[in-house]
Amino acid sequence: MFEKILIANRGEIALRIQRACREMGIKTVVVHSEADREAKYVKLADESVCIGPAPSSLSYLSMPAIISAAEVTDAQAIHPGYGFLSENADFAERVEQSGFVFIGPRSESIRLMGDKVSAKQAMIIAGVPCVPGSDGALPDNPKDIVQTARKVGYPVIIKAAGGGGGRGMRVVHTEAALLNAVTMTKTEAGAAFGNPEVYMEKFLENPRHVEIQVLADTFGNAVWLGERDCSMQRRHQKVLEEAPAPDIPRKIIEKIGERCAEACRKMGYRGAGTFEFLYENGEFYFIEMNTRVQVEHPVTEMITGIDIVQEQIRIAAGEKLRFKQSDIVFRGHAIECRINAEDPFKFIPSPGKITSWHVPGGPGIRVDSHAYDGYFVPPHYDSMIGKVIAYGANREQAIRRMQIALSEMVVEGIQTNIPLHRELMVDARFIEGGTNIHYLEHKLAEKPDLSAKASKK
Ligand code: ADP
Repeated sequence: MFEKILIANRGEIALRIQRACREMGIKTVVVHSEADREAKYVKLADESVCIGPAPSSLSYLSMPAIISAAEVTDAQAIHPGYGFLSENADFAERVEQSGFVFIGPRSESIRLMGDKVSAKQAMIIAGVPCVPGSDGALPDNPKDIVQTARKVGYPVIIKAAGGGGGRGMRVVHTEAALLNAVTMTKTEAGAAFGNPEVYMEKFLENPRHVEIQVLADTFGNAVWLGERDCSMQRRHQKVLEEAPAPDIPRKIIEKIGERCAEACRKMGYRGAGTFEFLYENGEFYFIEMNTRVQVEHPVTEMITGIDIVQEQIRIAAGEKLRFKQSDIVFRGHAIECRINAEDPFKFIPSPGKITSWHVPGGPGIRVDSHAYDGYFVPPHYDSMIGKVIAYGANREQAIRRMQIALSEMVVEGIQTNIPLHRELMVDARFIEGGTNIHYLEHKLAEKPDLSAKASKK
């Protein structure tokens, strides 16, 4: 096992990885920008290295700075967390070339999955069902594009091969709007992702977002750890997640879970990963694979009792998976609310000093957050400041516990989206379960008075 791991990330996930390491008796090095110097988790680490100024391009995205930090501290492995360099194949390659272990998949797997066109092709070969669409990237010839859309059937969605974070997508309802949408998406994709390639998918009208968590070792063993329902989204970004997904027959889940594990074995995939699907009318359609730990991994940990971050570390250290598929037992239900520093209904970021911070507790409540009384939320990064996770014997109990947790939670000095989560936890359709990916946006559009209501509470 490693003696020392460098954590190449910030915020709650940096703390989460640090906790996993400490439990395993591994020393930690935390790298941080000037803006994160005062963060408590930086002080808790065995060592810390300032790698640059606040803008991530000069710190958390600086490969030479991170690798030098690993060199000077004698770390053996680098955990990239999520976001930043976690899905950058060049980074994974440079880490390994510099003699460190990258806690994640091989760079070839990251590269293959990072291009959504090649990812879909790999899935088709591995027998994982995909959203119907263009075979590969869209050609330049307008006639061919029009033909492809006719074959797929409107509405279609044009997506950037290199896209991510809910960006680089455009829905097209009519042939008249098609070519213009393709050109615009290409131009944007070229500027934002350095790759103008786009592809086309059937735009599914009422799907749910359901994903499968996998773990695979370097000996060809792979298991799936159940599913997560992440349908509650705004602008294609997840707001809350739960496991298991309400009302999907276990037989269907088991079939797709086994397909994903088999795909990992076929691809020689290593580490933790997530196969993201849209689920509609009893069918799963692959959209993309994330080759890293995900924000929502705790809900899976709560229902399986498996520490995904520790398993990532064990796999990277060359250990064999310690369990077979039949050893994995799913118990109870878990929900995660992402707590963002933002206006709860207008969604404008709200950085600044937290003047009062009180976190909930009690049976089944887990709070993953690096924030504290007096913590300054820097304006330079993602607005997520933590996650509240509620576990219950069943979904009803998990919701009840989350309602109580959110009622106890106090964050002052900045605005957060806690009022939105409180609203969702008493929403009749959410309580029923199985809402689709458009539900939240429709709810927000139909209820402009939500904001006023929440502030009165
Ligand atoms: P990203 O990498 O930017 O997160 P994804 O391909 O994972 O992009 O898609 C993000 C979200 O966009 C999905 O969860 C879903 O809400 C929506 N989406 C993507 N593809 C489709 C599609 N073919 N039909 C309907 N919605 C889609």
